[in-house]
Amino acid sequence: MTLKYRRALLKLSGEALAGDRGFGLDFNVVERMTDEIKAVRQSGAELGLVIGGGNIMRGSQASQQGMARVSADYMGMLATIINALALQDILEKKGVDTRVMTAIRMEALAEPYIRRRAVRHLEKGRVVILAGGTGNPYFSTDTAAVLRALEIEAQVILKATNVDGVYSADPKKDPTATFLAEVSYQEAIVQGLGVMDSNAFALCKDNKLPIQVFNINQPGAIVRILRGERIGTIVQ
Ligand code: UDP
Repeated sequence: MTLKYRRALLKLSGEALAGDRGFGLDFNVVERMTDEIKAVRQSGAELGLVIGGGNIMRGSQASQQGMARVSADYMGMLATIINALALQDILEKKGVDTRVMTAIRMEALAEPYIRRRAVRHLEKGRVVILAGGTGNPYFSTDTAAVLRALEIEAQVILKATNVDGVYSADPKKDPTATFLAEVSYQEAIVQGLGVMDSNAFALCKDNKLPIQVFNINQPGAIVRILRGERIGTIVQ
């Protein structure tokens, strides 16, 4: 099977793991997501995974309710590690080899993130789950995804969402919103399309890393994208 992208970084938001519950983990959703990830490994592509934590804790929200932002952000980073362990457990039950690597040291349960080791794991066919965001407060897991994608030399960032891709406006609020199959970095900024937060987006733009935004609820979507099919929106 020929692959357009041999190494990719998948960004899964915490929200995606919560399904309709809106909070915590919906294991039916985790089952589906891990099936998708398993299919990626079967295609032969190498996959790094950055997982969000918004289903458990968002630093900015907790700080609005009275917590210090920095503490709240560390809680958010810990939340991403909780999600990573859940994905690892279910993936390994399905026979997918994985390693969790954390940006905040937590050796009792995962390896510390070391770039060269992460690359080695990928070369050996393991799915590397990169948890703990960037390890720094005031950042997001979108930024972590771009940073890690650049570090591991992923050819594309796959941004999983619950909509089909990027629209000219929010399709839930504006009935005239149109779907955009291809967008340049500049268009996304000028039109305020909100593909990722601005830090993460700038890092992609400056390093010409393409972002593929797609609907994770479409079975087989990740593998089809890796083979070069046009699904969702490509920002490049
Ligand atoms: N976070 C952080 N630094 C990082 C990544 C994440 O401080 O490098 C914190 C931040 O508080 C954020 C929370 O972790 O709100 C969860 O991550 P995010 O909101 O990006 O998750 P997602 O929205 O993708 O589920």
